[in-house]
Amino acid sequence: MGIYLDYNASTPIDERVLSAMVDSYRSTIGNSDSRTHTYGDDARDSIEEARSSIAELIGVQKGEVFFTSGATESNNIAVLGLREYAQKSGKKHIITSSIEHKAILESVRHLGNEGFEIEYIDPDESGAVSAQRVASRVRKDTLLVTVMHVNNETGVIQPVKEIGEMLYDQDVLFHIDATQSCGKLVDEIRILKYDMLTISAHKMFGPQGIGALILKKRRYRLPPVRSIMYGGPQEHGIRPGTLPTALIVGFGKACSLAKENYREENQACQLIKDEILRLIKESGVKYELNGDIAKSVSNTINVSFLGVSSEALMISSKQYCGISNGSACTTSSYSHSHVLKSMGLNEDRLESAIRISWGPDTDINAIKTEIYNLLNVVKSLAG
Ligand code: PMP
Repeated sequence: MGIYLDYNASTPIDERVLSAMVDSYRSTIGNSDSRTHTYGDDARDSIEEARSSIAELIGVQKGEVFFTSGATESNNIAVLGLREYAQKSGKKHIITSSIEHKAILESVRHLGNEGFEIEYIDPDESGAVSAQRVASRVRKDTLLVTVMHVNNETGVIQPVKEIGEMLYDQDVLFHIDATQSCGKLVDEIRILKYDMLTISAHKMFGPQGIGALILKKRRYRLPPVRSIMYGGPQEHGIRPGTLPTALIVGFGKACSLAKENYREENQACQLIKDEILRLIKESGVKYELNGDIAKSVSNTINVSFLGVSSEALMISSKQYCGISNGSACTTSSYSHSHVLKSMGLNEDRLESAIRISWGPDTDINAIKTEIYNLLNVVKSLAG
């Protein structure tokens, strides 16, 4: 199996998170919507405690956190949940970037089929979109701007702070997909200006299957999103369905751990990044880094080993490390990365691009050994 280096696809669950979840599964047996007994009260109490931990990490009020099944669902609600408001306001123009996750791209494409006008902003070769370009496309009928905080393939940080500031006084909703920055860019997220923000537990050492959509109030009012499913009144009707208590407890625990430890965790990740870059540089293989490494988070490197097919490399290096050539949600389709393509990279770089992503718990000595082995495979494939 080798060393796991695909943290951007999913992180291992933290032992402390797991143990909080096991306790919750054992001790909290009620449905948090039950009002007729204390079992329901107990479940509700643990959920509300977790909601507070999440709110504290993000720097929002507790009442602005809405649980979902993960970032895909949060992104879908942020986009498709605006249909009714679009109808009422007559606004049907949406601006996004061409490097978004499929959960955004497919959601806006869906609205495009329903008569909405979707405008895509490409990044430059550094992998970042320009805040000015995004803001300059805003029109009177712009409903939504949606841009991710950190790209999942390149790790490049997008100028969502600047975009948020430019949009704040305008009558346009701003959504940020912060799936890859949550728990990492903690101080940065707290000062962002936005209406909606997506997060997911399994990208930050929490369990799979739970996430949240943060809906920021303006003058005490939530953004005008509506549910995209029908059922119970949970989460103010924005996301009906019984809340999964233990998953939420795990998410809350992951957030309080991130709040305590993010500085040291970022430093640990940065040491690994420097080490991997050093090993690549000193190996003598031909490579190009994809995305501006100075603008990227401390746990991700996207690199093309020129002349070496990423498919061949991944298969031949499976025993050393688990890496990927893009988003886990698109890897089954074997097409080149839409992110790297829109950065304007040539065919050779697209064909040979791999993503390496890790966490603060990744063993630096194992990294040294396995990246060394990986680079030997690169050399043998390069012939
Ligand atoms: N947005 C981004 C930026 C992501 O990286 C991912 C996960 N690859 C998602 C959305 C989807 O997340 P989830 O698995 O929680 O649905």
